[in-house]
Amino acid sequence: MKLAILRETADGERRVAATPETARKFIALGAEVAIEAGAGIDASIADSDYEAAGAKVGSRADALGGADAVLAVRGPDPAGLGGAKAGALIVGALNPFGERERVQAYADAGLEALAMEFMPRITRAQSMDILSSQSNLAGYKAVLDAAAEYGRAFPMMMTAAGTIAAARVFVMGVGVAGLQAIATARRLGAVVSATDVRAATREQIESLGAKAVFVETVAGIEGEGAGGYATEMSDDYKKAQAELVSSHIAKQDVVITTALIPGRPAPRLISDAQLATMRTGSVIVDLAVEQGGNVEGAVPGETIERHGVRIVGHRNVPGRLAADASALYARNLFNFLSAFWDKEAGRVVLPDDDEIVKGVRLSQGGKVVNERLIG
Ligand code: NAD
Repeated sequence: MKLAILRETADGERRVAATPETARKFIALGAEVAIEAGAGIDASIADSDYEAAGAKVGSRADALGGADAVLAVRGPDPAGLGGAKAGALIVGALNPFGERERVQAYADAGLEALAMEFMPRITRAQSMDILSSQSNLAGYKAVLDAAAEYGRAFPMMMTAAGTIAAARVFVMGVGVAGLQAIATARRLGAVVSATDVRAATREQIESLGAKAVFVETVAGIEGEGAGGYATEMSDDYKKAQAELVSSHIAKQDVVITTALIPGRPAPRLISDAQLATMRTGSVIVDLAVEQGGNVEGAVPGETIERHGVRIVGHRNVPGRLAADASALYARNLFNFLSAFWDKEAGRVVLPDDDEIVKGVRLSQGGKVVNERLIG
């Protein structure tokens, strides 16, 4: 089975879908690994590192020629995959809802597209979960990005010249990214509070030494929520949440927002009027900016200032830690494909009735087959 790893073409994408470590492991299984020259350069991996691991490095056409699978970070342009075998697997973060037409194009080209972000959140698939591995790094980086924009220090400092107060950090949305943001802000010495709509997060917030700030008057989502995910909240809840945010946010120096609802635009959590109540010099990092944003006025790819508050809207935050993000992403891909490695056939075999396969498979036999897409 020949696996092709191409240089990512999306603007600003620094990650790569295989590392020398995962290349070596795939080769040990019996696969052939072909890398497009320069594929790892932005993630601090030289072509020679892949060669030392036993992979072949060559042109894009060399890598694609006769490939049984293409491993990618972002979904590659279907028109640029000529040379891959009929029915080849395309494995990556394919953004199925956002790039629905491209999914159709994979199907039309006879390719079998597998979207890693559709990985079911079951115990068996935890080590294959790219959303978790990438969100964890994004939560960490969001706090560092906030600290870099903030014109004050995070920890309390008692110096001969006087005392500096600790920064107050508020984390909105306590999934994987939010939990890591709380932990990182605490390590930097901030006074941290956090909120979510899922009741189970209260204990998680408190166990990290942060203060849980929850809507008390209207019921939120019980426990973890279905599959660990939030849904759109009622108008009553949204109103109560807006009041809570209004009373809390004016006392905060830094806000990190991470709230997402699968398959929908990100919920709006902070209005322009609310940010006008914050202290001049405060910083907001909106990790949901590419999904529509939690903060009114946030702009993808830009840092803007409104009412003296900086709103940071970096795109692709995991890609800002390209080496570690690639290492974890590549392991997620290896853990997935190796779990379905058929020793006798010497290749990946994906059974139709497997929960993981049903979750991630978007197209097969010329058709879009995923239930979440065809509804
Ligand atoms: P996510 O990225 O979908 O959303 C981030 C957070 O935003 C969530 O906690 C969500 O509840 C919250 N949110 C949504 N709307 C909100 C609103 N209006 N106000 C405030 N907060 C709002 O979530 P995620 O990071 O993917 O994690 C979701 C859960 O899944 C976590 O509990 C995580 O531990 C769990 N999980 C389980 C597995 C597994 O079992 N394999 C793997 C990964 C994550």
